[in-house]
Amino acid sequence: MKIGVIGAGPGSLAAADLLVNAGYDVSVFEKEGVVGGRNASIRTGEYTFDVGPTFLMMDFILREIFEECDRDLDDYVDVVPLDPYYQLIYSDGSKLKLGPDRGEVKESLSGFNPADADGFDSFFSDNEKKLNRALPALQRGYYKYSDLLSREVLNMLPVLRPFTSLWDELGKHYSEDRVKIGFTFQSKYLGMSPYNCPSMFSIIPFIEHKWGIKHVTGGLNQLAVAMADLFEELGGDLQLNRPVREIEIESGKARGLKFEDGTVEEFDGIVMGSDFAWSIKNLVPEKKRGKYSDAKMDGMNYSCSTFMLYLGLDKLYDDLEHHNVLISEDYRRNFKEVETDKVFPQDPSLYVQNPSVTDATLAPEGNSTLYVLVPVPNLKGEVDWEEGREYYRELTLGRLKEGAGLGDLEDHIDYEKIITPEDWKEDFNVGYGATFNLAHNLTQMLAFRPRNKFEVFDRAWLVGGGTNPGSGLPTIYESGRIAAHNIMDTFGE
Ligand SMILES: Cc1cc2nc3c(=O)[nH]c(=O)nc-3n(C[C@H](O)[C@H](O)[C@H](O)COP(=O)(O)OP(=O)(O)OC[C@H]3O[C@@H](n4cnc5c(N)ncnc54)[C@H](O)[C@@H]3O)c2cc1C
Repeated sequence: MKIGVIGAGPGSLAAADLLVNAGYDVSVFEKEGVVGGRNASIRTGEYTFDVGPTFLMMDFILREIFEECDRDLDDYVDVVPLDPYYQLIYSDGSKLKLGPDRGEVKESLSGFNPADADGFDSFFSDNEKKLNRALPALQRGYYKYSDLLSREVLNMLPVLRPFTSLWDELGKHYSEDRVKIGFTFQSKYLGMSPYNCPSMFSIIPFIEHKWGIKHVTGGLNQLAVAMADLFEELGGDLQLNRPVREIEIESGKARGLKFEDGTVEEFDGIVMGSDFAWSIKNLVPEKKRGKYSDAKMDGMNYSCSTFMLYLGLDKLYDDLEHHNVLISEDYRRNFKEVETDKVFPQDPSLYVQNPSVTDATLAPEGNSTLYVLVPVPNLKGEVDWEEGREYYRELTLGRLKEGAGLGDLEDHIDYEKIITPEDWKEDFNVGYGATFNLAHNLTQMLAFRPRNKFEVFDRAWLVGGGTNPGSGLPTIYESGRIAAHNIMDTFGE
C-alpha cells in the first residue's frame, strides 16, 4: 500500500513513522529543504532558534510513538526538565515563578494572597479528575457525529462546563488576578483569550504541573529531526524541496498528488499534514471540497497570530529565566485588541525565551539567543504588516527593555530575524496567518473539527494542529497516531 504524506511537520512525521513501521510504502513530500515546519529551526552560522514550539509537555505521547516503532526517544534526543517552568513578570514589577516543587508553588502563591495557596490544592485535585475524564476523548478519532455519544465523550460531559470561560473556572480556586493569570495565560498556547477559552482547558496548566515542562538540547526542532531520522531508518522515502500543488481527486477518492514541477504520483491513501486552513483552499479545487467552501473557511474561527523576533546576542542575560511571560498592564484589553478589535496591541503581553541559560549549544560561549513571541491579530484583521513590521519591532524592543529589564539590549544584537503574520501565511503556508490553527471553541472540536479520516473525500487522512484533537505538540502527535491507526484499520497491517 502506497501512502503519500504532504509536509514534514510533527503531525505528518508521527503518522509517517507509524505507517512505515507497519510495513506501508510511505513517501513524505516537504516543500522546504528541512523538516519540521513550524517545529523547524532557524540556523545562522552561530545561532540556533526554534521557529515555533519551545514548551515540550506530555512527552510520553511521542515516547509511545517511538516505542511502537521499537525505538527509545532518549536515543535520539536529550530531554531536559525545566525548573522553574517559567517566570511571569507583571506590569508593577512583581514576579511569579512556578516550577515542579508544589511546596514552593504554594509559597509563591501565598506571597500574593495566602488563601490562594490552598487554591492550588483544589486546582490540582479538580483538574486531575478532569484530565482523567477528558484525555480519552482527546485521544480518539471522530468519524461521524454519533461518535459524540461514545463512552469517552459521555464520560467527559460532567467536567466540560461549556458555558464557563477558563478565567471564570480558575476563579473557583484563586481570587488574586495575578495568580489567576499564572494559571490561565496557557490559553495562549491555543491562540485564545482566557475570557473566551472553554473552561475545559484548565487541564493545560494542570498538565504542566503534573508532568512538567521540558526543553530539548539543541531546541525542540530536534524532535522533528529525530522523527525524520527514524522515518528514514525504517525505510521511508523523504523528499525535501518537493512542494505539492494539488491533491488529485476522482469519483470522491484521493488518487494521488500533483507537484509544483507538474509531475503526478498515484497513492492508495493521502495524509495531509500541511496546515488545514491553507491546504484545503490551495490544494483542493473548491468544487471538490464539499462543505469547506471559501466562504465557510473564511467564516470559521481562527487562533491569533504571532509577531516573532529572534535575536542573537553577544551577551547572556543570566538573570532572565528560560521561559518568561511579560504581562500587559491592561491584560483584558490586550486580548480584546488581538481577538475582537484585531488591531496592533499597544502594550502587549509577550513571551520571551532565553534558552541559553539552560542550553549551551544554541550560541557561542558568552553569547545567547532570545526568542520573542507577541500575540497579534490574525490576517482576518486589517493590520498592514508591511508598514507595521518596523513599528512593531521598536515597540517589542521597548517592552523588553522596560518590562524585562533588558535596558542595553539594542547594544548587543548580533543577529536578528522577524516573522510577521504575513510571513506565516506566505512562507509557512499557514491559513489566515493563524499560527495556532483553527480556534478551539467547542463548535470546532472533536467531531466538529476537520476529521482525521477526512469526511469530504475518501482515501484521505488529516493530521496536524488544524485537525482533531488540536494544536500543540502532544495533540498533534496524537493526530498522527489516530490517522495512522485508522489507515491500518482501513487497509490492514
Ligand atoms: C510560534 C509558535 C509557537 C508554538 N509554541 C508551541 C509550544 O511551545 N508547544 C507546543 O506544544 N506547540 C507549540 N506550537 C504549536 C504547534 O506545536 C506547532 O505549530 C507545530 O509545528 C504544528 O505542527 P503541524 O504538523 O500541524 O504543522 P507544521 O509544523 O506547519 O507542518 C506542516 C508542514 O507542511 C509543509 N507544507 C506546507 N505546504 C506544503 C506543500 N504544498 N507541499 C509540501 N509541504 C508543504 C510545511 O513546510 C511544514 O513543514 C507553536 C506554534 C507556533 C507557530
